Formats: sequence, C-alpha cells, structure tokens
Amino acid sequence: MTRRTYYGEDINVTFDADLCQHSGRCVSGLPQVFEVGRRPWVLPDAADADRVAQVVSSCPSGALLYERKHQADSQAQ
Ligand code: SF4
Repeated sequence: MTRRTYYGEDINVTFDADLCQHSGRCVSGLPQVFEVGRRPWVLPDAADADRVAQVVSSCPSGALLYERKHQADSQAQ
C-alpha cells in the first residue's frame, strides 16, 4: 500500500491508488485540482483549500485524505 503526498500552500492531499474505487467524485468535483492523466494529477493549490478539503472528504474509499497546514481540522490518516 503506497500513499503519495501532494503538497500545497495551505493543504496537503494524500492519495492511495490501491484504495481508489474510481467513483470520479474528485475529478467531477474539482477538475482543476484533480485531473487524471496530468502529472502530478493532484494540484492542491488550484482551488480554495476549503473546497479541496470538501471534495477530498467526499471520496468514498478513503483513497484521498487531506491535512490542513494552518488549522487543526486535518483528517486522521
Ligand atoms: S473520489 Fe476517491 S475513490 Fe473516487 S476516483 Fe477520486 S480518489 Fe478514487
């Protein structure tokens, strides 16, 4: 199991491909942040950190998680 971290200014996003169920909620929720086929495919700074956190929270599999860098509301890993 490998979890990769994508670093942003206000929020980091981590992704574990083994858990992804390909529901597409991330790419449909914030296409400017999550774009399959782009490298890196996650750009945490491409949208407001609150929106990024919201869409990451909607990931049904736990493949995506986030950590806020200036607040204490990060998800547990
Ligand atoms: S929302 Fe989560 S499970 Fe769905 S495609 Fe994105 S990372 Fe995978």
